[in-house]
Amino acid sequence: MATRTDVNTLGEFGLIDRLTAPFQLRQPSSLLGIGDDAAIIDTGGHEHLVVSTDMLVEGIHFDFAYTPLKHLGYKAVAVNVSDICAMNARPQQITVSIALSNRFSVEALEELYAGIQAACEAYGVDLVGGDTTSSTKGLIISVTAIGRAPASRITRRSGAKAGDLICITGHLGSAYLGLQLLEREKQIYLANPGTQPEMKPENKDLYAAILRPEARTDMVDLFAKNDIVPTAMIDISDGLASELMHICKASQVGAILEEANVPIRPEAQLQALEFNLDPITCALSGGEDYELLFTIDPKDLEKIRFLPDIYIAGEIVPTADGIKLHTVGGNIHDLKAQGWSHFG
Ligand code: ADP
Ligand code: MG
Repeated sequence: MATRTDVNTLGEFGLIDRLTAPFQLRQPSSLLGIGDDAAIIDTGGHEHLVVSTDMLVEGIHFDFAYTPLKHLGYKAVAVNVSDICAMNARPQQITVSIALSNRFSVEALEELYAGIQAACEAYGVDLVGGDTTSSTKGLIISVTAIGRAPASRITRRSGAKAGDLICITGHLGSAYLGLQLLEREKQIYLANPGTQPEMKPENKDLYAAILRPEARTDMVDLFAKNDIVPTAMIDISDGLASELMHICKASQVGAILEEANVPIRPEAQLQALEFNLDPITCALSGGEDYELLFTIDPKDLEKIRFLPDIYIAGEIVPTADGIKLHTVGGNIHDLKAQGWSHFG
């Protein structure tokens, strides 16, 4: 009898591994294939191309109960540009493919594209193609982003060495808490459709983090300006813990993360406590912040120390030392990754 394996038993990364294991790169220009934030392609010149694709699915990645179409269009581009930034490259082109049901009007789709256009302007990228088709239910957006960087500046997940410093851009946990706030408002509205959603102005950064995240192209520029090439880098789409594990696995190293140095906004801390959540758990496992996690050689410490919006939060250690969290209470325990599972 043929075996039937449920996809849930493998998880997202197990499934990707299983499906793609039989493939081998045959083109010498395919410098790096599956397994990083973007593939790296040799163009023959001193610059390489990087290419990445991400798909957003209604009901899985966004909910129209609280997602404005314009923000959604912006976000679909930003999350792809974020993967280009994670390679320390500059984004240049995107393609956008959509599958939609007849529930969407032309005007609604124009809103979506106004957001896509705003992101193209913000990140200086050109929309150069795509595909349009129907779906039986809901909206699916798939964006491919293409970027470019000098070969010597491209940063993979695999270059971290013991002794390197672990750095984080921006603040973590905000997107997860923004999502919890929106979900709570949705439940209140569903229970009592007459109510108006209550979006407190002091939480605006939390709402923005989930609805309209920014890719850190500014960091790619800052690295170039300060002559820094991170040793490894990844964007934080699934939560800090899971991304740090990706870097450790790809680089064959361990890590020690300082809880006290993980950047979390004060309003995110307050909101976490209101939801009875531990703020650090929101940062470690929340996901969707689209900040950058990177490592640098300690000789670059002086270059990085006074740069704005970059936080040093730990150190890379030998593999045998494991991947640990040093808590504010002084304990050291294994870091746990409970990244979002869209199969769960
Ligand atoms: P990211 O979170 O940076 O977008 P993912 O975790 O989605 O990256 O994907 C990890 C790697 O697996 C990437 O190199 C991606 O291109 C590749 N990948 C994901 N899904 C597939 C697929 N269905 N077929 C081939 N490669 C895939
Ligand atoms: Mg990524």
